[in-house]
Amino acid sequence: MTATLSARVYRPTPANLSRLARVLAEGGLVAAPTETVYGLAADALNARACRAIFRAKGRPANDPLIVHVDSLAQAADIAELNDAARAVAKAFWPGPLTLVLPKKPGVPAIVTSGLDSVAVRMPAHRLFRALIRRSGCPLAAPSANPFGYVSPTTAAHVRAGLGSRIGHILDGGPSEIGVESTILDLRNPKHPALLRPGAISREALETVLKRRVSAYRRKAPESEAAPAPGMLERHYSPRTPLTLVSKLTRADLGRIAPDEAILFLKKPAGKIGASIFWLTSDGSLEEAAHRLFDVLRQLDDGRWRKIHAELIPGRAALAMAVNDRLARAAAKR
Ligand code: AMP
Ligand code: MG
Repeated sequence: MTATLSARVYRPTPANLSRLARVLAEGGLVAAPTETVYGLAADALNARACRAIFRAKGRPANDPLIVHVDSLAQAADIAELNDAARAVAKAFWPGPLTLVLPKKPGVPAIVTSGLDSVAVRMPAHRLFRALIRRSGCPLAAPSANPFGYVSPTTAAHVRAGLGSRIGHILDGGPSEIGVESTILDLRNPKHPALLRPGAISREALETVLKRRVSAYRRKAPESEAAPAPGMLERHYSPRTPLTLVSKLTRADLGRIAPDEAILFLKKPAGKIGASIFWLTSDGSLEEAAHRLFDVLRQLDDGRWRKIHAELIPGRAALAMAVNDRLARAAAKR
């Protein structure tokens, strides 16, 4: 990568937060940490600022943005909050849950790709919340990476991908959760639907809503439109081809060429060659999600011709979230 890096990386001092909040209030872009991944933020009510997000990322205009808020009152300025939305917001906000709801008129069409619904989330990260509060703006923010590439979970990831296209990156250390928010469609509160798996499980949502939430499907049946705009089959993708395997053993290693790498869920026992990578030392799903995108980036440094990645067993929310990102990374170009 020989791009000229013009982005400045800021430490999270009070003075820098005020300065970056001013950049946002004046219609500029700031990349900043959330607990899920780093976001590329702009004033959600400023159409010109939001258009700059799409330009910087190379994101197609038919992929709507999530609007981040700091209070329920601010969420109610953006979206029609029905009782179901209030109940899950009370249970899971601030946190990694995005709600799709009917939108309020003030939200520019560019944010919602012209839809009459809007995606809203109250993040838990104190620095991102401080930017919303100090700027006074709800912040539209997709992940801070060139469209389609692996999402960023550190300021260094943001700089590597967008450093020549944006001016300001707030460094708040690694994102704790590491995969994007669960998205719940509550446009019709009688028929809630999961649009993207994340750290908050469908079962937890069903418990609060006291009704069934339709399961997430990565691929819509042929007869249906895509389950949600922007839920592209190929996404979160390293340049190196990646294939999925349900379970890898030591015996499989002998069959893999020297220029192919393997990604295990759990660090294997015994001697470890350079081509062996893993998500966790102890099998913890939190650690697997937290490290996923960083490890995919390490695997994508040009040394390997092919990556073989092991799927995570079980139906836990983070297992399904990680497997979803791996499946998209593996989808054909
Ligand atoms: P991200 O790429 O993490 O910013 O997530 C944005 C995703 O949220 C989009 O790709 C859509 O899948 C989903 N989304 C945002 N707004 C809407 C909406 N109005 N209706 C349905 N899905 C939405
Ligand atoms: Mg994204």
